[in-house]
Amino acid sequence: MSFPTAHSSESPRPVARRAFLAVAALGLAGSVLASCKSPQGARTASGGPLGATNAGGSGAAAGSGAAAGGSGAVPGDGNQPPVAKPPAEMRLERPAPPKNEPAVRVKVGSVVQGKALEVGVAGQVLAISSGGLPEEVRRVNAPAMITAVPEGWVIAPRGGASKRMRVDGPGELVVKTVGSAGEEFRVLGGVWSGVLHLVKTKGGADVVAHVGLETYLAGVIAKEIYNTWSLEAHMAQAIAARSYAVCEEARWSHRRHFDVHASEASQAWVGKTDHAKSLDAVARTRGQLLVFEGTVVPAYFSSCCGGARADAEGTIASELRHDIAPLSAVGAPRGCACVGFSPHANWTVKLQLAGVAQTLSAWGPLEGFRELGSFASVRAIEVVGRNAAGRNQRMRVDAHGGLACELPAERVRWALSADPVNPRISKPLKERVKSAYFDPRVVGSTLVLDGHGFGHGVGMCQFGAEGASRKGKHAREILAHSYPGASIAVSYA
Ligand SMILES: [Zn+2]
Repeated sequence: MSFPTAHSSESPRPVARRAFLAVAALGLAGSVLASCKSPQGARTASGGPLGATNAGGSGAAAGSGAAAGGSGAVPGDGNQPPVAKPPAEMRLERPAPPKNEPAVRVKVGSVVQGKALEVGVAGQVLAISSGGLPEEVRRVNAPAMITAVPEGWVIAPRGGASKRMRVDGPGELVVKTVGSAGEEFRVLGGVWSGVLHLVKTKGGADVVAHVGLETYLAGVIAKEIYNTWSLEAHMAQAIAARSYAVCEEARWSHRRHFDVHASEASQAWVGKTDHAKSLDAVARTRGQLLVFEGTVVPAYFSSCCGGARADAEGTIASELRHDIAPLSAVGAPRGCACVGFSPHANWTVKLQLAGVAQTLSAWGPLEGFRELGSFASVRAIEVVGRNAAGRNQRMRVDAHGGLACELPAERVRWALSADPVNPRISKPLKERVKSAYFDPRVVGSTLVLDGHGFGHGVGMCQFGAEGASRKGKHAREILAHSYPGASIAVSYA
């Protein structure tokens, strides 16, 4: 059962440093101003819990994507001076459409050092190589038990301790199936397509499937939207997800050992799927990508925009590749078919102010908003900046005693969704704040949020896509509405 709640999209990818710049609220006569400064240092993929940083993920913290990208982040808010046109090389963050179907490296999970990982099912023969030169290939009957140890790896057939093999060295293991079984693996409770790579990490190993993009996409579509939704919505989702994956592949290819998580931290991936509509949608759109000015659009999407889209710049992250018309609310068509259709279009959440203060004071220092650590109480939260669509962009937290801190609305959403005891993780899904698009008000000791939508609101609105298709819109029209100015290019056949 899929549940279109979170994706790549919902991930508050680390807004690169300068975008975090939160200035002290001004104009509070006689008040003590907190200077909420930007976090020091860029986050890395492992910065957030499980690397998950999405609404659907566990992370209260941002962190999946190394602000790192090092794309020469630009300020993402109206408080900053205009940015000079960046040099051409800094615009290359968005890749050209690939001429052939690329492979995607999907992290499906990880295993701690010393704990055996069961790979494959009875009947399969596995060819395991350690990537050394000359490459040595070992054939093992599945299921195989593979354990990361300090010196390298230990491989044994299940129950076959006497046949243990040691592979020394820091290199990764590459596991393929032999014969007619096909390139799929049962590991970590799922069935995954592709070739399995086990990559040593500090505490164990990452399990990464290398899989063809089209094969990967079917497993994304099957999990990202409701299987019962229309073929047109599936096709729109396929093109968006393909574009996103191509951008992630280009972004991470030389920076880390995987391109995407098999979860909402990137895009949900069910692995191997037999879902006919998902397979059909991927086949019908094979090779089709969203392109803007010749390069691929990182086509973020989220569950429900609530009627007003967000800008990628400053919401997902402050990066040059995000500062483009298809990912901006400026000049974009207004309204969305999710209104009146999505169960997330309108909601209300009530939070106790005392709990809000506790959470913010614990969350702030972890996330680089050190001054929030001194907020013993919270008096109010206000919207101080909206984007061209009318969606919250910046918010100010006011404490008693005159302390105030202004920060991006999406960051406030995550702060309010953090676990008050351990703000590195999020509260249970039902208790999180669904989006940053809300009107806050204080009633007694309660902070009431009247909100709209679910997810970050950038790019395609999934409920809006299905809602539009029910009004007769085709995938191309849905995408034209979602990513204004982008065109669809057939990248490879
Ligand atoms: Zn919408």
